Amino acid sequence: MNRPIYMDNAATTRTDPRVVEAMLPYFTEVYGNPGSRNHMYGWESEAAVDAAREQAASLIGAGPKEIIWTSGATESNNLAIKGAAQMYAKAPLGSTGRGHIITAIIEHKAVLDPVKRLEREGFEVTWLEPGTDGIITAEMVRNAMRDDTILVTIMWANNEVGTINEVPEIGAVCREKGVVFHTDATQWVGKMPTDVDRDNIDLLSWSGHKIYGPKGVGALYVRRRKPRVRLQAQMDGGGHERGMRSGTLNVTGIVGMGAACAICAEEMETERERLLGLRRRLETELSSRMDVVAVNGHADRRLPHLTNISFGFVEGESLMMGIKDIACSSGSACTSASLEPSYVLKGLGLGDDLAHSSLRLSLGRFSTEEDVEIAIEGIVKAVEHLRRLSPLYDLHQEGIDINTIEWQAH
Ligand code: PMP
Repeated sequence: MNRPIYMDNAATTRTDPRVVEAMLPYFTEVYGNPGSRNHMYGWESEAAVDAAREQAASLIGAGPKEIIWTSGATESNNLAIKGAAQMYAKAPLGSTGRGHIITAIIEHKAVLDPVKRLEREGFEVTWLEPGTDGIITAEMVRNAMRDDTILVTIMWANNEVGTINEVPEIGAVCREKGVVFHTDATQWVGKMPTDVDRDNIDLLSWSGHKIYGPKGVGALYVRRRKPRVRLQAQMDGGGHERGMRSGTLNVTGIVGMGAACAICAEEMETERERLLGLRRRLETELSSRMDVVAVNGHADRRLPHLTNISFGFVEGESLMMGIKDIACSSGSACTSASLEPSYVLKGLGLGDDLAHSSLRLSLGRFSTEEDVEIAIEGIVKAVEHLRRLSPLYDLHQEGIDINTIEWQAH
């Protein structure tokens, strides 16, 4: 059986063979604990971790001492958000008035859930809502600022629609007000140019497995100068990573993430252009060959490799069944008991039906022209087939607006 073509690079990427190559010696040859200070096994592992720290830092314009290794973006977000809120809280745990946090309803769960926990623990939260273009603007953040605001956390690019928030501008507002600014840049870093100084960022999360590195390793940038940002550790233990994240370092993973960062830095420019071409082809062909097709989110402020498209008059589950030869994500989140429409698409103002019948197609380093062709043909075939069975689509084609029909109840 042929495996489906892979168009889910926003979920995870294939590890680049060059990354695997770089990692291999660190399983069996260089296997010391970088915390072992007394012998060369420890020193050589520490040197490898330091080299990877340089590679990661240089991808985002940071200094190596500003990089904290974690297990992935989920952990980076937890450490940044809880760690900053607890450090800069205006009142102790158990009291109210601990401080105000600004975030947005379209964040990843790895931001929403830590913020919700802080809300239960006495912090007040403003949940910003985007317009139909999906963008969180600096103006929205400025208007939400209060005297007691201690933290702003806004993602750089959204993982479901690929829209790009006004991160450098939001950072400037935070700088002006003296408020710590964190951005979940998991879908951005490695794909788009990043400079934490130019872009006014204090804390930045990203992950190895979204940039062709291994799973289970990530990083958090923590600004050390102008201003120096401090965090309360969430993992207590041996005091690794400047006391912010205890635990023996995942040396192989870290070496892999470093190599992945270096390759991204090298290839980002050409890759961006290539992927943008492929994505545009997907979007233009799908929307010119069929009607009632909508690309979700802002037309231009978007990641080059990710698109989210709604197909009217098809049922979401049937659509997914119809495109079994394309591995992608749908606009529904499968929870154990129910099929819920994506809260991000609903946040952009889409109704439940359109949210369900949306596809997120995300391209990557290993996507080819041929993959895109197969995807276009497969999706057109599936949508047209489902519409042939749809009485509502018939009505639509006859020019009848189904919203104006008065359905009779029996
Ligand atoms: N934030 C965003 C925006 C993401 O897309 C993801 C991955 N789906 C995460 C956080 C979580 O990353 P990780 O899997 O490395 O914990």
